[in-house]
Amino acid sequence: MNRQEMLQALEAKGSGLWDICIIGGGATGLGIAVDAASRGFSTLLLEQYDFAKGTSSRATKLVHGGVRYLQQGNIKLVTEALHERGILRRNAPHLVKDMSFIVPNYKWWEGPYYGIGLKVYDWMAGDLGLGKSRLLSREETLEMAPTLDAEGLRGGVLYHDGQFDDARLAIHLAMTAADQGAVLLNYFHVDGLLKQSSQVSGVKATDQFSGKTYNIKAQVVINATGVFTDSILQMDDPRAEHIIAPSQGVHIMLDKEFLPGEAAILVPHTDDGRVLFAVPWHDKIIIGTTDTAVDHIDLEPRALPEEIDFILQQISRYLSKVPTAADIRSVYAGLRPLVKSSSKRTAELSRDHLIMVGDSGLITITGGKWTTYRRMAEDAVNTAIAKAGLPHKECITATLSIHGGAGETEAEVRALAEAQALWSEKIHPRLPYTKADIIQSVRTEMCMTVEDALSRRTRSLLLDAQAAIDAAPMVAELLAGEMGKDASWQDQQVSAFRELAKGYLLHN
Ligand SMILES: Cc1cc2nc3c(=O)[nH]c(=O)nc-3n(C[C@H](O)[C@H](O)[C@H](O)COP(=O)(O)OP(=O)(O)OC[C@H]3O[C@@H](n4cnc5c(N)ncnc54)[C@H](O)[C@@H]3O)c2cc1C
Repeated sequence: MNRQEMLQALEAKGSGLWDICIIGGGATGLGIAVDAASRGFSTLLLEQYDFAKGTSSRATKLVHGGVRYLQQGNIKLVTEALHERGILRRNAPHLVKDMSFIVPNYKWWEGPYYGIGLKVYDWMAGDLGLGKSRLLSREETLEMAPTLDAEGLRGGVLYHDGQFDDARLAIHLAMTAADQGAVLLNYFHVDGLLKQSSQVSGVKATDQFSGKTYNIKAQVVINATGVFTDSILQMDDPRAEHIIAPSQGVHIMLDKEFLPGEAAILVPHTDDGRVLFAVPWHDKIIIGTTDTAVDHIDLEPRALPEEIDFILQQISRYLSKVPTAADIRSVYAGLRPLVKSSSKRTAELSRDHLIMVGDSGLITITGGKWTTYRRMAEDAVNTAIAKAGLPHKECITATLSIHGGAGETEAEVRALAEAQALWSEKIHPRLPYTKADIIQSVRTEMCMTVEDALSRRTRSLLLDAQAAIDAAPMVAELLAGEMGKDASWQDQQVSAFRELAKGYLLHN
């Protein structure tokens, strides 16, 4: 995938008509691009910043049915998500792994209660299940999670769910869409909608690097902008009602010593009646999340001090080695694009997705979750076909492999490191990435900035914000070498990244 080639493809189309133009390059938009292109439609996706810059790089990293939704009795949502979990695991075995989760039991009734609930969860997954849940003795629980607080521990319930790297899946979806013939452009802001006889006929968009604007014509325009959904609805109709109630979720990153071993922990009941996860990820531990209603929508939301305190306080009850603020390697926040309802508490708003077709023909899809992106895309493209009278073609994504399953990315990185010995060096002693990873991301993954490299092509910023800041000058130099940029570009990139990364450090 190469941005220059994508731009050429856009320009070659000129005033020609795309079948489907998608606004937004998160899980939802990228899933639609894969679906639309693989059905043979000419497909264009425009993302204002980088792929997965929004909510889609800020998840808990679970491919799951949602134990919490099971507790709430939302059977339809859990069944659909478990089905999608199985499909994604099958189509992207290189990106989704089976993870063991332990629900620790300190009260006598917790074993039977969660044991039965998780048997139902297994049963709902059917043939696409990942593994059977079972009760663990106290000894087995401590063997799998040695840092659990042993005092009063009776045992645990073990169950299975999927785990993934959200931004990496996003990039692989972009590459899958590109393999299928889609044109995808990051750093391309949609400024407005084109209309003909009050029907949406395309978009006006600006290349954020060159400043050049484009009028792009399409049979259908799909708004897949997550928490920014309302801004596109307003472009369509300035009087449009706001439908998104954003809810912020925060995670903290700790070193592995706080939860050694392979298993994750699910705290089934926090003080605010939610669940909390502690999940091993890239040799660190992610702990989260929160659910805080917010009224301001930002591409870089910031954790509130009380959200961090809440997470530390809740997890401390379960761990023998109690983490403090000084142990936090990075903090990240994301905004859930929840669809408004009359309900006051955002925790009760629907995680189901919503598809709307406006009077102008604009299709809007929002809500849902990462796990169900494929199903959301299928529904959106079916709606587009019906709305625009496109030729009927069956969806094929349930059996479509996601790019990289044959280990292409790893092979490319290895080849680079062999060709240039220097590139086999790590970018920082505390980070698991080499210079070859950075070079590879520039050459094949449309990595355009130091932030792209450290935040979403590698996950350095989330894993260890200070290490990412320290690595930035060297990464800027590598990028500049590949992209033909000068020293002042490097300086500007490093200072922009430092400014952004400060928001991921607790003490800044
Ligand atoms: C804290 C948290 C934890 C979560 N954990 C999980 C989990 O473990 N598992 C799971 O399945 N789901 C999880 N989710 C849900 C999941 O992350 C989201 O449902 C999903 O990422 C939403 O994707 P999206 O594409 O709709 O939105 P986004 O990822 O926000 O994408 C929208 C994109 O549109 C772009 N855009 C906006 N305006 C314009 C414009 N004018 N022009 C061009 N582009 C534009 C934005 O830049 C953005 O990149 C979590 C969510 C949160 C907040």
